[in-house]
Amino acid sequence: MSALFERFQVRLAERAAQDLIRTRRIASSPTAPRQVIDGVEKLLFCSNDYLGLADHPALVQALQEGAERYGVGSGASHLISGHSEAHEALEAELARWARDCIPDARAITLCTGYMANLALLTGLGDREDAQIFSERLNHASLIDGARLARAQKSVYTELGELEAQLRASTAATKLIVSDAVFSMDGHLAPLRELLALAEAHDALLLVDDAHGFGVLGPRGRGSLAHCGLRSERLVWMGTLGKAAGVAGAFIAAHPSLIEWLLQTARPTIFTTASPPALAHALLKSLELIEGEEGERRRDQLELLRAHLVEGLAPLAAAHGWQLPHSDTPIQPLIVGENAAALALSARLDARGLRVPAIRPPTVAVGTARLRITLCADHQSDDIDTLIRALQP
Ligand SMILES: *Cc1c(COP(=O)(O)O)cnc(C)c1O
Repeated sequence: MSALFERFQVRLAERAAQDLIRTRRIASSPTAPRQVIDGVEKLLFCSNDYLGLADHPALVQALQEGAERYGVGSGASHLISGHSEAHEALEAELARWARDCIPDARAITLCTGYMANLALLTGLGDREDAQIFSERLNHASLIDGARLARAQKSVYTELGELEAQLRASTAATKLIVSDAVFSMDGHLAPLRELLALAEAHDALLLVDDAHGFGVLGPRGRGSLAHCGLRSERLVWMGTLGKAAGVAGAFIAAHPSLIEWLLQTARPTIFTTASPPALAHALLKSLELIEGEEGERRRDQLELLRAHLVEGLAPLAAAHGWQLPHSDTPIQPLIVGENAAALALSARLDARGLRVPAIRPPTVAVGTARLRITLCADHQSDDIDTLIRALQP
C-alpha cells in the first residue's frame, strides 16, 4: 500500500482507539419512529423529524404532484434558470411567517441548512471590518461559516463575556450568531437578552432555528415568535429537513440583507437550485405545521416530553447521569466517557432501540451522551419501552 493511504489508515486506527469511529446504518423503510435499520425494525429516538411529517401522506402526494408539474431537477442555480414559481411561492410564504418578528422581512431558500449558514456568515461577514461573535455551542455549520468568512471572530460562553467583546469591538458590522435551540442539549439560547445586546451595540442577531422551526412558538413559527421578539436586527435561519419533514433551508431578514446574499453568497450562487418539487411539497408542509394538524402534533410532543423526563429522572439519579433541562423534543442524557455512552447505546440497540451515542467533537470531551429525540408519532408506550431498556 502506498504511504499515501497508510497515513489515513493510521489516523483511523487512532480514532478507533479513542472510541470515535462512527458507522452508517442502512434504513429501508420511511422515516418514522419504527424504521427498518440494517434489516431489523427498530424503535428510533434519534431523528429530527419532530412532527412526524417526513412520511406524511399529504407530503408524499405533494411531492408526486410537484414532480408531475415541474419534473425532477431544477437544471441550474437560482440566478440562472433554476428558480421556479414553487421556490418563489415558498419564499413568499416563509417571508410572511418571518414578518411576525422581522418587519418587512424577505426570505430566500437554500439547498441545506449547512449551506445557508455558510452563505450567511461568508455573505454578511465578508470583510475584515466585520466581526462575528459566536456562541461556543454553535452548530458546526456556523463554525465552518465563520472559518470561511474574512471577518474577525470571537467566541463567547455567556452573556457577560459577549457584552465585553461587543464593547471592545470597533468593527463596522457586528454579527452575533447563535443556535436558537442547542442541537445536542435541547435548551434555548437567551434570545431576548441577545437581542437587547444587539440593540445596545448596533449589531445584527443571526439565529439558527434548525430545531425550533415548526416546533416552538404560536403555530410553530419558531423560536423568535416563541420568545416574542420583534426587530429588524434579527436574521432568521431555519432548516426544512427537520420538523418540516422535507429538505432545504431558508434565511429571512431585512430585504437589503437578503438582496445582498442573493447577489454575493457563493453557497447559493454556485450551486444547482433544489428540485422545485421539494419546494412544492414544502408549501404543503408549512400548511400542515401552521394548521390544526401541527397544533395536535406539537401538543403530543409536549405530553411525550413530560413523560420522558418523569421516567428518566430517577434513572439518571441512580446512575450519576446528567439530565439537563430541555424545552424541546431534544433530551440529552449525559453519560460522560465515550466508551460508556457507546456501551449504553449498544445495549439499547440489542433491545431493539436506536439512540446513538454522541461523542466529541460534536460535544465537549467528557460529556458523551445519548441524544434522545422525540417525534409526534411516538406513543406513551414507546417512552416506557425506552425507560425499561435503559435499566440494567
Ligand atoms: C441540522 C442543523 C443544521 C444543518 O441543516 P441541514 O439542512 O441538515 O444542512 C444547521 N444548524 C443546526 C443547528 C442544525 O441542527
